[in-house]
Amino acid sequence: MTIKAILFDMDGVLIDAKDWHYEALNRALELFGMPISRLDHLTSFDGLPTRRKLELLSLDRGLPRELHEFINELKQKYTMEIVHTRCSPRFVHEYALAKLKARGYRLAVCSNSIRLTVRTMMEKAALAKYLDLMVSNEDVTHGKPDPEMYLRAIETFNIRPEECLVVEDNENGIRAAKAAGAHLLVVQSVDDVTFDSITDRIAEVEIEKQKAISEEPRA
Ligand SMILES: [Mg+2]
Repeated sequence: MTIKAILFDMDGVLIDAKDWHYEALNRALELFGMPISRLDHLTSFDGLPTRRKLELLSLDRGLPRELHEFINELKQKYTMEIVHTRCSPRFVHEYALAKLKARGYRLAVCSNSIRLTVRTMMEKAALAKYLDLMVSNEDVTHGKPDPEMYLRAIETFNIRPEECLVVEDNENGIRAAKAAGAHLLVVQSVDDVTFDSITDRIAEVEIEKQKAISEEPRA
């Protein structure tokens, strides 16, 4: 078996939370008259940790840095409110993770969100029980696009990067997965994350590997 572990990004992969983070941060930013437009969100902010987003707002639009801590706390509070009202299980994901786990794959979620958000979202989505590991931005020094999160999971599972399949939906995560040396399944939305899409990609990886072995020059 070439692939031994599947590492999932959370937002946009296991949880349709892109809009939640956007809404929560904007609710906080609106108090200071500095909301992020949807276009800016999609083109430059999506997938970054909140602290990085606030740093960009300070650089680009002069948001006072003294407000970062307060806005960050408000944003996390608003996010949890949204999670508690809107986050619920999706059968397709429960089915996929249960079957993959039964097949012996190690499963992890690696997310730029804070630990409490990751844990709560995974519990509310009824996926926590299938996961061997949850890596949040509080567990690493550098969030994605840095590969540290994925490398942490790879190291914890005591496997090699090429034995991992990373499921990602956006540029920052894709960069992190590539830099970690893992195989990739890129999805457009949470709807693309199914048992079949994952096992099809694993089968492709196995075929690529067989091909590479058969093409190796023989001594
Ligand atoms: Mg994502």
